[in-house]
Amino acid sequence: MNDMRLMERAVGHDIPKISAKNVQVHYGDTHAIKDVDIEIPSKMVTAFIGPSGCGKSTFLRCLNRMNDTIDSCRVRGEILLDNEDIYDAKVDPVQLRAKVGMVFQKPNPFPKSIYDNVAYGPKIHGLAASKTELDEIVENSLRKAALWDQAKDRLNQPGTGLSGGQQQRLCIARAIATSPDVLLMDEPCSALDPIATAQVEELIDELRENFSVVIVTHSMQQAARVSQKTAFFHLGNLVEFGETNQIFTNPDDPRTESYITGRIG
Ligand code: ADP
Repeated sequence: MNDMRLMERAVGHDIPKISAKNVQVHYGDTHAIKDVDIEIPSKMVTAFIGPSGCGKSTFLRCLNRMNDTIDSCRVRGEILLDNEDIYDAKVDPVQLRAKVGMVFQKPNPFPKSIYDNVAYGPKIHGLAASKTELDEIVENSLRKAALWDQAKDRLNQPGTGLSGGQQQRLCIARAIATSPDVLLMDEPCSALDPIATAQVEELIDELRENFSVVIVTHSMQQAARVSQKTAFFHLGNLVEFGETNQIFTNPDDPRTESYITGRIG
C-alpha cells in the first residue's frame, strides 16, 4: 500500500483526492472556466450542477486532461491528483486516464464483444500477466458495474447488443477495469430511460465505496439523490461548493438559490 493510501486510511476522507487551484480554461477567446479552486474528496460522489453552458463539462474534462484533445482549448492553473500535478510534463495523459476514468453521456461501447470491451484497458496497460488474471479483472469489473449476472453467459457477444442501460454499465465496467482512483461521469443517465437511470444511480452509490466519483448532471434531483458534495457553476465561475444537503436546503449564495428554486437556468 502506498503512503497516500495509508494516510487516507489513517485520516479518513480528509485528504482531497483532487485539488484544483486558479484553474482557467479558454477556447480561443471564450473564457469558459474562471479561476476555479476546488478540493474533491476521496471516496464520495461530487456533483457538478449549473445552467447549460456554465462550464461543468469543461471543468470535468480538465480532471483527466480530455481537453488536451481539443486544439483551441487552453488550460491554466494547477490540478493535483494525490498531490501530484497532472499537467506536469512527466505525466502521460494515457496513463492518467487509466487512473481517472471517464463515462460519457451516450453509452459508447467499442464494436467488440462484451469481454473485449472490458479487457481492452487492462490489456493495453499490461495489467494482467495471464489469461486467467484477465478473466478475473473482466469478471470483477462487470460485478462492480452490476452487469455480471446479465453478461456472464454472453461474454463473446457484441456489447452493442445490450440495452441502453446495460451498455452504460458496460462502459462503467470498462472504466473500472484499469483500477482507477477517480471516475468522471458526464451526464451518464441523459440517454437512459427512468428505470435504467435508477439502476445507474444505485450503482453510483455503490461505486463510492471504491472510487471517488465526479458527476456532471443537469438534474438537480439526481445530484440530490446520488452526491454527498455539490458544486454549483454559473458563467464559468464556481459559485458555491459544499455538502449536497446544505446546497439544496440552505445555499449561501443568492445565485445558487435562484438556480435551485428554478429562477435561473
Ligand atoms: P456545460 O457542461 O455546463 O453545459 P460546457 O463546459 O459544455 O458547459 O461549455 C462551457 C462554455 O465553453 C460554453 O460557452 C461552450 O460554448 C464553450 N465550449 C465548450 N466546448 C467547446 C469546444 N469544444 N469548443 C469551443 N467552445 C466550447
